[in-house]
Amino acid sequence: MIRLPGHSLASALFAGARDLLFPSFCLGCGRQLATARLPLLCSACRASLAFSRSPRCTCCGQPFATGSDHLCGDCLQGNHRFDLARFAVLYSGPVPRLVQDLKFLGRTTPLATMGCLAGLSGVLDELAEPDLVLPVPLHPSRLRRRGFNQSLLIARACFPRWRARIQPDLLVRRRATVPQTSLTGSSRRRNLQGAFALGQGERLHGGRVLLVDDVFTTGSTVRECVAVLRRAGAARIEVFTLCRSI
Ligand SMILES: [Zn+2]
Ligand SMILES: [Zn+2]
Repeated sequence: MIRLPGHSLASALFAGARDLLFPSFCLGCGRQLATARLPLLCSACRASLAFSRSPRCTCCGQPFATGSDHLCGDCLQGNHRFDLARFAVLYSGPVPRLVQDLKFLGRTTPLATMGCLAGLSGVLDELAEPDLVLPVPLHPSRLRRRGFNQSLLIARACFPRWRARIQPDLLVRRRATVPQTSLTGSSRRRNLQGAFALGQGERLHGGRVLLVDDVFTTGSTVRECVAVLRRAGAARIEVFTLCRSI
């Protein structure tokens, strides 16, 4: 495209007019923002974001209070069978509201801000280029009720460059389960046993898979999906979640 002189002035004027006519609001606290620049968060909400950073587990990304990067207890015991897991921000500050507005109110406005936070976190550069990007699936009955799979929308928002590799129907949820948030520890694991499968006749033939979910809590959901992907022949499995609760 030929860049016309004065183009940046025109776009700055346009942005100024847009901000005046259609003011934006902080997605964390609702305060009016001066501009519509991403992320749509006020300075106080931005300051309360806790991005993933060292010291943390070199494998699952679990943050540590002090020291240097090393393997956490769970990873040392082999409780996680993925090769790498990373999250962008902790589930704190304005993040719960972003996730809940998307998931339970069906608001798609937070998606662009989520994609922006994923980029700002720096963790996307740590992920290997995948052959397939697989969002954690919902059971068809919940998908019908909700109308969308938030993990698929998050995958599209955070990985636009790999959009053609996002396959929402390869991994399926074959059993409806009660929401994990209503359970703790071992009952979370039991709730999900056998809940996921690969579509009929699908194999991964040594492929590199990136599994995407909204929140990493105990890792039970991810664990079940990873077991299915390993059995199907995935060579490398990495996990990206927008956030992680601690
Ligand atoms: Zn705010
Ligand atoms: Zn770990």
